[in-house]
Amino acid sequence: MNRQDAKSEGRACLGKVYLVGAGPGDPGLMTLKGKGLLECADVVIYDALVSPAILAMINPMAQKIDAGKRRGRHSLIQEETTQLLIEKAQEYAIVVRLKGGDPFVFGRGGEEMEELVNAGVPVEVVPGITSGIAAPAYAGIPLTHRLYSSSVTFVTGHEAAGKYRPKVNWQAIAHGSETIVIYMGIHNLPYIVQQLTIAGLSQETPIALVRWGTRADQEELIGKLGTIVEQVEKAGFGAPAIVVIGAVVNMHEMLSGCRPVSS
Ligand code: SAH
Repeated sequence: MNRQDAKSEGRACLGKVYLVGAGPGDPGLMTLKGKGLLECADVVIYDALVSPAILAMINPMAQKIDAGKRRGRHSLIQEETTQLLIEKAQEYAIVVRLKGGDPFVFGRGGEEMEELVNAGVPVEVVPGITSGIAAPAYAGIPLTHRLYSSSVTFVTGHEAAGKYRPKVNWQAIAHGSETIVIYMGIHNLPYIVQQLTIAGLSQETPIALVRWGTRADQEELIGKLGTIVEQVEKAGFGAPAIVVIGAVVNMHEMLSGCRPVSS
């Protein structure tokens, strides 16, 4: 429904939708603004990657709806989620759309916001700490370092990315910056490693995988580009994980001892 339709049907919005970033998992990394909204929300529609500790912050009187979209488990398709947000905003004052990490970083927050604006629904974004920054940090990996890296690229490893836009240009990514951070990269890791190798990255390039970053059950797998696929198979390492590639990964050895404790 567009703004005109919404108005002509006389279904004025009572409320506002807040696209809130829940951060990567550790509840201590939730923003004060986001927490305040969860505490006074009338409805919260949340994603699968939002941690239980964050869900526990939600106003007990609020309606909670799981819109989880983990691989192969589509609870609600994207259009249904957006439609639901529009309907809830016509009924309630504070509607929170809670997303893992940051809503505007590989979270489809931009798409949802666009559709809400088109439907005439007031909407605001509340940024969160993205897993691509927090998971490496909790593994003792700074993304930049004056000696090792002065640039970072955030890229999706999800195969569907090419459906909507030209495919990820791994050749350009390989040479575009000194640190590469890949979201949704585990499933496609053999292909990604192959592409980066063809692009000329050395087999010795350090690589780290951080699973369930910032949570109490965070796991890490550290290796080299030439051996990581085999290591993943051996360890049975799975999603959700962030992949970090570049010399900064070597800092892990020294800094991982100072790992923050999840709150
Ligand atoms: N908007 C989110 C990303 C959504 S895409 C953000 O800003 O973090 C989903 C991908 O994010 C997962 O496949 C995984 O690569 C990454 N991810 C999300 N939470 C994570 C966590 N706690 N630890 C490691 N990776 C995570």
